[in-house]
Amino acid sequence: MTTERRRMPLHTKIFIGLLLGAIAGGVCQAVMGPDDPRLKFFRETFAQPVGTIFLNMIFMVVLPLLFSALVLGVAEIGDARKLGRVGARALLMTVILSGIAVVLGLAAVNLVKPGDGISTADRERLMASYQTADATKKVEDAQKAKGVADTLVGLIPKNPISAAIEPDGILPFMVFALIFGIALGGIAPEKALPVKAFLEGVFAVTLRIIDFAMRFAPIGVFGLIFTTASLLGVSAFVALGKYAGLVLVTLAIHLFVTYPLAIRWIAKRNPIDFFRSIRSVMLTAFATASSNATLPAALKSADEDLGLPRDISNFVLTVGATANQNGTALFEGITVLFLAQFFGIPLSLGAQAIVMGMAILAGIGTAGVPGGSWPMIAIILIQVGVPAEAIGICLGIDRILDMSRTVLNVTGDITIATCVAQMEGEGMEPAAAMS
Ligand code: ASP
Repeated sequence: MTTERRRMPLHTKIFIGLLLGAIAGGVCQAVMGPDDPRLKFFRETFAQPVGTIFLNMIFMVVLPLLFSALVLGVAEIGDARKLGRVGARALLMTVILSGIAVVLGLAAVNLVKPGDGISTADRERLMASYQTADATKKVEDAQKAKGVADTLVGLIPKNPISAAIEPDGILPFMVFALIFGIALGGIAPEKALPVKAFLEGVFAVTLRIIDFAMRFAPIGVFGLIFTTASLLGVSAFVALGKYAGLVLVTLAIHLFVTYPLAIRWIAKRNPIDFFRSIRSVMLTAFATASSNATLPAALKSADEDLGLPRDISNFVLTVGATANQNGTALFEGITVLFLAQFFGIPLSLGAQAIVMGMAILAGIGTAGVPGGSWPMIAIILIQVGVPAEAIGICLGIDRILDMSRTVLNVTGDITIATCVAQMEGEGMEPAAAMS
C-alpha cells in the first residue's frame, strides 16, 4: 500500500477517480438518459453506496473531532488571554480577518451564483437521490419558524449529548464545546493537563480515521461523481467549474488586498517585501496543503526573513496554525452557499449570518491538515438544511482549492504575527508573551 502510494500521490488518484466518474457518468447520462433502468441499477447498487461509505467514514468522526478541536483551540486561546495583550490582539485580528474573509466569500457567491443554472428537473432528480434531503428541508423550515428568543435559548443545550444527535443540534453542541474549552482554560493547570492530553489523543485518532477514509477516496469520489454526472450531465460541471474559479479569485482578493492593507496600515511594512520574504513558506503551504506541516517553515521565516521577535511569532504562529484559518473560513462560506444554490435551497439573510458565524468558528476548529475543513462543512450544511452528502460534489476538485486556501491560512498567521509585533513595539517584555 505504502509503496503504491509513493508511486502515485493520493490526490492524483482522487483526481483520476473524479475524471473517470465524470466521464463515465456523463457519457452514460448522454447515451442512455438519466432514468435508464440499467444506469439506475448501477447507480443505486454500486456508485451511490460506495460514495456513501466513503462519506460516512468522514462523518463518523465529526463529533469527536469537533469537540476535541474546538475545546483545545479555545483552551489555547484561553491560555493566550492570560498572556495578556499579545493574545488579545492576536485574537482580535483573527476574528476581524476571518470575518472579512467570510464576508468576501458570501458576497462573491451571492453575486456570481455559481450553483444556479441547474434545471428544476435535474435538481429534483438530485434531491430524490439524497434520502436525507427531505428531512433536512424540514429542519430548515422548522428553523425558519423559530423566533429570536427561541433561537438564542436553543443555542444553550440542556443536554449536549442529545443535542448532538439532532440534525440541528450541532450548533448547540459547538457552544457546549466552547464553554467547556473556556472553562478548561480557567482551571488549575495540573487538573487541566490530563484533560488536554486526552483530547489531544482523541483529536489524533480522529485524524487517523480521516486518513483511512482518504485512502478509500479515489473509489469513493468515483462513486459520488458518477452519481451526480449520471443524473445531471454537463450542467453540473459548468457549475462546478464556476465554483472553483470563484473560490480561487476570492482567495486571491483576500490574499492580495486584505493582507497587504493590514501589513501596510497595522504592521507598517512594505507588502511586496513582506510577500517576498515569506514566499518559500507560501510555496510550502501550497505544496503540502497543511498548515501544521508548514509551521516549522513559517517559524523559521518569521525569525530569519522577517526578523519578528521570537516570543511573539512562536506563540502567534503555533496557535494560529490551528486557530486562525482565513482561507478555510472564506472557502467554507462559499462552499456552503454554492451547495445550497446547487440544491435550490434558498438561504435567508439570517441563515447566511449563521453560516458566517459558523464559518468563523469552523476556522478555529478546523484541523490544519489536507481536507481538514470537510467535516466542518458537513456540519454547517446540516445546520442550514442542505444534505451533508452534497460535499461529494466538490470533493473531487478539492486538492487545488485546498492547496490555495492553505496558503492564505499560513500567510494570515504570519500577517497577524507581524501586525502584533508592530503593535507591541520594542517595549514588550518577553515574559508577557511566553508561557
Ligand atoms: N488544509 C487546510 C490547512 O491545513 C485546512 C482545510 O481548509 O482543509 O490549513
